[in-house]
Amino acid sequence: QLAKEVLREGELFSLIVESIPVPVAIISPTGEIEALNQPTLEYFGRTFEELKGWKSSDVVHPDDLQRTVATQIEALQTGSAYNVESRHRRADGTYRWFNVLGLPLRDTQGHILRWFILQIDIDDRKRAEEALRSAERNLDQIINTIPTHIYVLNTEGSVQYVNQAVMDYTGLSLEDVKQEDYRDRVIHPEDFQRVRPGRAASLRRGAPFSTEQRVLGNDGQYRWFLVRYKPLLDERGHIVRWYVAAFDIEDRKRAQEGVRRSEAFLAEAQRLTSIGSFSWLVATDEITWSEELYRIYEFDPGIKVTLEVIRTRVHPDDLTLYEKMVEQARNGCEDFEWQYRLQMPDQSIKYMHAVAQAIRDPSGQLEYIAAVRDVTARRVSDEALDKARSELAHVTRVMTLGALTASIAHEVNQPLSGIITNASTCLRMLDGDLPNVDGARETAKRTIRDGRRAADVITRLRALFGKKDITFEAVDLNEAAREVIALSLSDLQRNRVILRPQLANDLPLVAGDRVQLQQVILNLVRNASDAMSTVDDRSRLLLIKTESDEGDQVRLSVQDAGVGFDPQALKRLFETFYTTKDDGMGIGLAVSRSIIESHHGRLWATPNDGPGVTFSFSIPSTLEH
Ligand code: ADP
Repeated sequence: QLAKEVLREGELFSLIVESIPVPVAIISPTGEIEALNQPTLEYFGRTFEELKGWKSSDVVHPDDLQRTVATQIEALQTGSAYNVESRHRRADGTYRWFNVLGLPLRDTQGHILRWFILQIDIDDRKRAEEALRSAERNLDQIINTIPTHIYVLNTEGSVQYVNQAVMDYTGLSLEDVKQEDYRDRVIHPEDFQRVRPGRAASLRRGAPFSTEQRVLGNDGQYRWFLVRYKPLLDERGHIVRWYVAAFDIEDRKRAQEGVRRSEAFLAEAQRLTSIGSFSWLVATDEITWSEELYRIYEFDPGIKVTLEVIRTRVHPDDLTLYEKMVEQARNGCEDFEWQYRLQMPDQSIKYMHAVAQAIRDPSGQLEYIAAVRDVTARRVSDEALDKARSELAHVTRVMTLGALTASIAHEVNQPLSGIITNASTCLRMLDGDLPNVDGARETAKRTIRDGRRAADVITRLRALFGKKDITFEAVDLNEAAREVIALSLSDLQRNRVILRPQLANDLPLVAGDRVQLQQVILNLVRNASDAMSTVDDRSRLLLIKTESDEGDQVRLSVQDAGVGFDPQALKRLFETFYTTKDDGMGIGLAVSRSIIESHHGRLWATPNDGPGVTFSFSIPSTLEH
């Protein structure tokens, strides 16, 4: 009966065990495996017999085996339930973590009948725990290796935690940092005082806050830090703690200071010299305008300068020129120079001289860097000076003419009155009843003599103002040209002419009269400048060029961008008294040609490919002889 009972109990047992969906084993009080349910066999993929010998096989991970066996033995001895974690090898060969629970099954007297071993798969939980641990480790590592200083403060603002960077920088321990007077000790006194009220207010209000302050390092030096405070709030919006990150901005501060200084320096220099500057990125029309240029153009400091904005200041008469320059600059990439006028809102006029250089920025984009000079003051004083000079020139001319006329009158008057007296005497002698033929002949002779004297006066006068004999000497045409340039510079600038000398190196000397040659050059330069006085849609560019010409000749040419002349006029240009100017005399080119011819050279004019003409002369060098 008892045996039957036991058997029936055994059957009931197996039934219960079989119906449990996790691996379950039944072992005897001595540790022998008596039964295993189907999930166990399936999990391990081994036979009952094989699993019986688990203590000497690899079904439990070798690293966990000893511990598991020891725990079981101890439990069997003490009779108390046990709980061990170990890795079990699955049919596919992988180990998974299990929580093994050993529970004793006792009879009514308390004797242990069997042990009931429950194996719960906790692998997923284990992995999650491990992942969490390693994430925490990583975070810790990150926080302690980043160079940013991190503080965690409580709601009152006292330090709870700092990362390694703070301790390395200050040379203080976490304990030191937690002291109440910590901030007082490491923050620069000036910054401490400045920041304190704002910090306290934002701690109270729980508002994020940032500031810049100097913090003392363990080398005894202060460095600038950018400090940001951010509160951590709970669901109800109460502050839990503060996170503070401090970034070292010392280098940036220094660089900023350097830039600020050099900018101030540049601005001061620009102000002193009335020279502004700008840069223009052609592709994007991005314009950087210097402070001084804002002042010169009288732009409001904040406004964004664009080509359109600049245009509003350009003098109406120079607008076409302005548009042409922009157009040209956009297409080409040449350096350029131009003079133009601005008209201010109060209608006053400013004179500008700009020099621009084309460069390629690092990405290969075309950019112009330009210096712009306000030359108004200079122009005004130049004009006053010029006016005085030309008035003086006029006065002297009038005086010379007056003196000249007086002397001519005097010289010619004498023979003329002689002629009139003699002619009347002659008439009287012939008119009488007895004509005095001898006397008349004598007076006629005197008349002729006086007539000759008058003609002589004229000849002498002509000799005085006409060609003189040339004094030949070796002349450096470059030198001569430079002197002429220096003389006419202010005239040219007043006429907004941009002069470009291109004087050849190693130019041979010429044989000639320096002063006369300079008169020729001056005349050509004046004509060129006159020809450009109405030009407003392009630069008034004047080129003075010297070069060696064939046959040991030296050539000088003056090229303008002026109005040019009709092809029919070409023949007449060099004629005496040919002029198209209201105040012209029409003798400049005639005299120039005769001077050049007396130097055995040639003077000629050719129209340019573009606008304007080129006048050139060519005379023999001293090498020819
Ligand atoms: P003036 O300058 O007194 O007129 P010139 O003999 O120097 O006398 O010049 C004669 C004429 O030749 C000028 O009036 C002008 O029509 C023409 N001329 C001279 N130089 C130039 C020039 N660079 N471009 C166009 N026309 C010119």
